[in-house]
Amino acid sequence: MQRRIGLTGGIASGKSSVGRLLEARGWPVLDADQYARDALSPNTPASEAVMERFGSAVGTAAHLNRKALGRIVFNDSVERRWLEALIHPVVRDRFQQELERRSHEPVVVLMIPLLFEAGLESLCSEIWLVNCTPEQQLARMMQRDGLTEEEAQARLLAQWPLARKRNLADQVIENSGALDALVAAVNRCDPVSPGTTW
Ligand code: ADP
Repeated sequence: MQRRIGLTGGIASGKSSVGRLLEARGWPVLDADQYARDALSPNTPASEAVMERFGSAVGTAAHLNRKALGRIVFNDSVERRWLEALIHPVVRDRFQQELERRSHEPVVVLMIPLLFEAGLESLCSEIWLVNCTPEQQLARMMQRDGLTEEEAQARLLAQWPLARKRNLADQVIENSGALDALVAAVNRCDPVSPGTTW
């Protein structure tokens, strides 16, 4: 049976960093963030629905202003839920298509930040979670995305805390140390039995 590894964590906990390490093993990595961006590419049904709801404050259907959209949804949970309800089914369909195309692969990685929040567990045969502290998430997010602490905090609060997700994962990859420790943790990560914390 094909292994479908759901790779999740919290925002800026290190999922993409782990995804790149797994890709270097030759494992295909499917990226939910990319699919969500594609869903909002020019003139798609989703970008037209966004335009209809928010109007010119978020640009045009041909040129969506993601920063402006981010400001709206991370300050208003009703709008964020509306946007998630619009995008998640498109992302799920895309995963199904991409999995079909790769059904011959022995291992596929599904990198999904909101795996639990969106209820996408059933796409995966096992779940790996990349963990660090909330303070590290904030610091890494502020540095990577040029956000203020307040903006970073709003993004953090829009997700389940890692402490809640950790218990639901088959494997926890610890990323609260230096990057070389992360590389070592990923290298040790497989093959092992589920339920191991590194
Ligand atoms: P995610 O994909 O979960 O949002 P990333 O892998 O993009 O997270 O990591 C978030 C940011 O933190 C990136 O800029 C990355 O280079 C940095 N980073 C990741 N792991 C570490 C680490 N162990 N030490 C320092 N910086 C890190």
